Amino acid sequence: MLNESELTLPEFLEDFFIRKPRRIYASGSFADLKKVPPPRWELLDLKRYAGMSIQFSRGCPFQCDLCNVTALLGHRVRTKTSRQILTELDGLYRLGWRDEIFFVDDNFIGNSAFLKADLLPALIEWRQVPVMNIDTLPEGYGRILRHIYAPEHFYQRVRTFLREYKPPENRKQFRLSHILTLVRSLYQLGILSRARAHYWRLLFWTQWERPQLIPEAITLAICGYHYRKVCRQHVA
Ligand code: SF4
Repeated sequence: MLNESELTLPEFLEDFFIRKPRRIYASGSFADLKKVPPPRWELLDLKRYAGMSIQFSRGCPFQCDLCNVTALLGHRVRTKTSRQILTELDGLYRLGWRDEIFFVDDNFIGNSAFLKADLLPALIEWRQVPVMNIDTLPEGYGRILRHIYAPEHFYQRVRTFLREYKPPENRKQFRLSHILTLVRSLYQLGILSRARAHYWRLLFWTQWERPQLIPEAITLAICGYHYRKVCRQHVA
């Protein structure tokens, strides 16, 4: 079953109940999140969960070349209403949930105007969120992202990942495009970037500890560079 389940699952279920399911269900449209019903939280045994997930939006206006979110969910940011989000939160609260709730949006600030004008004030007014300045949440969010993608923290996590990562056995052959990527990354990340010391440290460390993972090290370094750029350009 492909694409968003709000569109393809009902069709599958209809066919399934008359015992005529097709092999593939797909849709070229995107679901309207304003019509998505609240989750049936009461079907969960909440004691078995460490955290709950809520989704406010789908789609992203940006065009990061490493990301498949926009291919999957489109460039138009579709949001639920603040009332829908509060209904979901109230549902969890009523069932006794007092633990972590994670917003799983790919880009929570994709529609920052609506977020600031509507959802954040609604959340602040909601009984569980302490009163705070309307700019505090976006600022805090930006600070967290900048901390996560700061070179020293990001490259440290890359090394931890590479230390434990087991590469697939049937790896792709080295192609011309890989060599071009390597050369561009050496220039962009190893010469021009302000975090170049971290980049070279990562390359030498990988060459010494896990030489077969050099392609992964370069790919992840490019991702980090890219995320830092997105944060600089789009996050307060
Ligand atoms: S901002 Fe995030 S979600 Fe949007 S395209 Fe870039 S990586 Fe993907």
